[in-house]
Amino acid sequence: MENSKNLRTWLDAFGLQHPLVIAGPCSAETEAQVLKIAHQLKETDTTVLRAGIWKPRTRPGNFEGVGALGLKWLQKAKQETGLLTTTEVANAHHVELALKHDIDILWIGARTTVSPFIVQELADALQGTDKPVLIKNPVNPDLPLWLGAVERFYEANVKNLGVIHRGFSTYEKTRYRNNPEWQIPIDLQNRFPDLPLILDPSHIAGRRDIIFDLCQTALDLNYDGLMIETHYDPDNAWSDAKQQITPATLDQMTVDLRIRKTESEEVAFKNQLNTFRTQIDVIDHKIVEMLGKRMQIADKIGGIKKQNNVAILQNKRWNEILGKMILDGEEQNLSEEFILRIYKAIHQESINHQKKIVNS
Ligand code: PEP
Ligand code: MN
Repeated sequence: MENSKNLRTWLDAFGLQHPLVIAGPCSAETEAQVLKIAHQLKETDTTVLRAGIWKPRTRPGNFEGVGALGLKWLQKAKQETGLLTTTEVANAHHVELALKHDIDILWIGARTTVSPFIVQELADALQGTDKPVLIKNPVNPDLPLWLGAVERFYEANVKNLGVIHRGFSTYEKTRYRNNPEWQIPIDLQNRFPDLPLILDPSHIAGRRDIIFDLCQTALDLNYDGLMIETHYDPDNAWSDAKQQITPATLDQMTVDLRIRKTESEEVAFKNQLNTFRTQIDVIDHKIVEMLGKRMQIADKIGGIKKQNNVAILQNKRWNEILGKMILDGEEQNLSEEFILRIYKAIHQESINHQKKIVNS
């Protein structure tokens, strides 16, 4: 993947004036449902109709997809609307059936990307295909694992590739269903700037109300497209009901989103600046979040110091931390003076937190 330039030929060939929009239901449910959604999406900026045919479910007993039958519905939707189609494939048999039914783009699900064995099986099954293959990030926040999957397809001579960012599992409950960890796709984009990067805000959010903001962040980071779960009756969808939006909402979103086109040099400059600023915003957010977590631990230390009647300030420990951080700072090209200033401030805040606990 040294030269990844040709990876995006398939996307450029669409000649779109806006980011690629892939939309459609989480799952194909009935023929009528697929066709109705496809016709509604035809009136939007959507280029590709998505629908899950085989659904990987975390727990058994949930709707597991209609299976091969649904591929015919996608074919019909394509005939009637001219939309391209995409579905998830998770084994060689799925690939065979999807190719037989003329599905245009295949995607690899997050639960598949984690397994090099299955990814290799799929890469072998797709050997040399011209169909674009979009690889979702693995459920765990592991960039090499994600890249490894891309490389397996590339080495199987699948050169029309793209990646889908759908967020990462965490044990902690956050406001997201899957934590975005924006830094991971940013790193990936820096390494392979031509590999098309698509956001799946639906599986990151797990709920409707933050989908728009996620899309805006992605566009500010120069993503190439969006994959959004869309249903005419989201609340009654057979899977992922909470996160689906209607085609009408999607349509309005594409009007409201700020899309940055690279026409003039001045616009190109502003876009670049904006992308870097959004990257900085992502990191600043992380810094504050980590500082908050650090202070929560300081509070706990305050609690046990109080119980054991121990002084808050422990000079030896503090000097150890400083020494370590100055060395870490050096590795990151940060001056000793800067580390000292920052750590004094952090230490002071930590003492303030502990004092509050000890005196409470
Ligand atoms: C999906 O797109 O419906 C899906 C199952 O996604 P993921 O693999 O990201 O969980
Ligand atoms: Mn889904």
